[in-house]
Amino acid sequence: MNKKIVYFDNNATTAVDPEVFEAMKPFFSERYGNPSSIYSFGGNVAAEIKKARAQVAALLGANHQDEHGNFTEVIFTSCGTESDNAAIYSAVENCPRRKKVVMSKIEHPAVLNVGKDLERRGYKVAYAPVDGKGRIDLQRLEDLIDENTAIVSVMWANNETGNIYPVEQIAAMAHRYGALFHTDAVQAVGKIPINMANSQIDMLSLSGHKLHAPKGIGVLYVRRGIRFRPFIVGGHQEKGRRGGTENTASIVALGKACELAGKNMQIENTQVKALRDRLEKGIIDSIPSIKINADLDNRLPNTASVSFEYIEGEAILLRLDQFGICASSGSACTTGSLEPSHVLRAMGIPYTSAHGTIRFSLSRFNTEEEVDFVIKTLPPIIAELRSYSPYWQEK
Ligand code: PLP
Repeated sequence: MNKKIVYFDNNATTAVDPEVFEAMKPFFSERYGNPSSIYSFGGNVAAEIKKARAQVAALLGANHQDEHGNFTEVIFTSCGTESDNAAIYSAVENCPRRKKVVMSKIEHPAVLNVGKDLERRGYKVAYAPVDGKGRIDLQRLEDLIDENTAIVSVMWANNETGNIYPVEQIAAMAHRYGALFHTDAVQAVGKIPINMANSQIDMLSLSGHKLHAPKGIGVLYVRRGIRFRPFIVGGHQEKGRRGGTENTASIVALGKACELAGKNMQIENTQVKALRDRLEKGIIDSIPSIKINADLDNRLPNTASVSFEYIEGEAILLRLDQFGICASSGSACTTGSLEPSHVLRAMGIPYTSAHGTIRFSLSRFNTEEEVDFVIKTLPPIIAELRSYSPYWQEK
């Protein structure tokens, strides 16, 4: 099967950048030493981890260094999910007096399911609603926060719509009540500028495989001075804040990916955005009854969430797959159901639209030819599927 893949699902995962792959390779072969070892074969590897930590810190604009030049606010973890869990559990366990957590309804399951777990343990968890464009009403959010709140967690950018949230304002709001603020920035890092040096955010999660590093590596940024309780206890690695022998190859890869993301940030906002806009325009011009789900003026440059009314997203995806086109639907199909996703439901998108929602998410590796191929391929697929749809006939 030599079908060319047209990969428009970069919010799900990204290709490892060839330069990143090159950088990590030696750590599987000639540089396999344990960074904690006393001999230089291991110690030299520790130096590479230090370098990677500095590369991550540079992308985040995190400038605090200890007396040895380590950017200590960066803790390496196994993924975005671990980082989200670690941040929220640390906050509640460090502040046993406060029995409440506030988050938005459109968080990733890596945050929402921590909320559910805390509810089972007797915590009050309040979920901020969103409007039809997926925006959070800040007043309604503030009404949920009080002196009993240990932490507020709101994502920087949403994985389905691409919406960007006013995290600095929300951090200031949380602090007015003495609560910590955490942001899941898994979709934001590498796509939009981040400057933690001028920020009030206490903790931030990121994930390597969303920015052209491999799967299985993440970071939790913890601002200097914030008390942190390890989620994984074990050895002294990461200054005792995350046990487990370091995943050296992936840490080095993430450092390189962050360096490249910094260099390529402009491309995200010009080239990738132009491709996304071309795709959306092509779809709007050639297919009736569609809707873009997002806060159009305030979203990631790479994401397009498009509802094709009166048909099933999964059917569209299967047809696109025949042409080698990869995208995602707006259904929670991972749970085995075809319920519209919690994000689309929170936005109040009608079922007839939500079911036919496709997310296209681009990267710097996509081309204009690929966009044009999708624009050409999609209209007959939609027309055919609608011809079978009783809802479309009745419309
Ligand atoms: N948060 C958001 C917004 C995501 O999109 C994802 C991945 O889809 C995660 C968290 C989880 O990251 P990971 O796959 O590294 O655990």
